[in-house]
Amino acid sequence: MNAVPDITIPSDLLPADGRFNSGPTKVRPEALDALRARATDYMGTSHRQLPVQLVVAELRNGIAELLRAPDGYEIVLGNGGSTGFWDCATFGLIEQRSHHLSFGEFSSKFAKGVAAAPHLDEPSISESEPGTHPPLDPAADVDAYCYPHNETSTGVMVEPVRAGGDDQLMMLDATSAAGGLMFDATATDVYYFAPQKALASDGGLWIAMMSPAAIERIERIAASDRWVPPSLDLMIALDNSRKDQTYNTPALATVFLTANTVSWFNDNGGLSWSAGRSNQSAEILYGWAEASDAASPFVQIEEQRSKVVGTIDFDDAIDADVLVEVLRRNGILDTGGYRKLGRNQLRIGLFPAIEPSDVEALTHCIDHVIGAL
Ligand SMILES: *Cc1c(COP(=O)(O)O)cnc(C)c1O
Repeated sequence: MNAVPDITIPSDLLPADGRFNSGPTKVRPEALDALRARATDYMGTSHRQLPVQLVVAELRNGIAELLRAPDGYEIVLGNGGSTGFWDCATFGLIEQRSHHLSFGEFSSKFAKGVAAAPHLDEPSISESEPGTHPPLDPAADVDAYCYPHNETSTGVMVEPVRAGGDDQLMMLDATSAAGGLMFDATATDVYYFAPQKALASDGGLWIAMMSPAAIERIERIAASDRWVPPSLDLMIALDNSRKDQTYNTPALATVFLTANTVSWFNDNGGLSWSAGRSNQSAEILYGWAEASDAASPFVQIEEQRSKVVGTIDFDDAIDADVLVEVLRRNGILDTGGYRKLGRNQLRIGLFPAIEPSDVEALTHCIDHVIGAL
């Protein structure tokens, strides 16, 4: 990185909140205040007793409402975040062979993990250049299709569609998408995520909306002779979730903050409202980048350009790392691109909890810094 010049952004240009990370993301101060109000009758109390179970129930019902769960779909949760859920799925959802789209850090990690599993066949994996996504490759011999709704590392989104037949599960990694992107729930069998991204909470939990076909798959594998470690056993997770509990102790603050965000979304109109906020922020960011001489959207195909994570390339004359550091010194945090991509790039969280007016302010701040460099 070049030397970082001393640039002070005028305070009237600054966003009200400077958190633009892609995960963990901005947690609303209002949610933290609500948690503070439950400091003595919720935090530090048993997760097997009613006060916590009621919040877990609020979370499960709220997610079902937000995601417009079709009849018979259930909300299941457990510990370990989305990475933990990949292992759960490797043990408890993929029967023999899966098909993966691999086009960034997260989608490739899941595919690699499955490829290394000794009890499964070699998966079929379709890859594409960073900044794009490959098409699904329907095949008769796979029992699960696995791809991200949004690849967080590159800012590429995929429209969920049903590819195969009835006995082929559509499993979507919606970690950075759930709550921030519109989608057709009937096109998914397992729509899983962790709450530290679009749901403006903290990490540690996985949450999955599962279709009757997915639940039937879990039951069938659980009844087979496959060995499954208990903490990754989806049958155990399902049994506990139905009682508004988790197999082992969850982070109570994470559960509370997630339920709080989901209620906030639902009280304001649900997914069309929350995803609408991300859509508005995306229009502001990409509109600005397209009009700028120094910046341009990294994702070229417009339908693939993410509305929850914006990746913006910069002209070689501007060192993006310097820009990120100047922004940081002015209280605008975590705007750096995904390290391993190695591009001269900024990556901006456009999640529903982030005010679109703050995204607008961010673009003015970037213009100011570029002008001063
Ligand atoms: C962040 C992220 C993950 C990993 O989530 P953890 O909760 O940290 O395990 C997986 N997939 C996608 C698409 C992500 O954005």
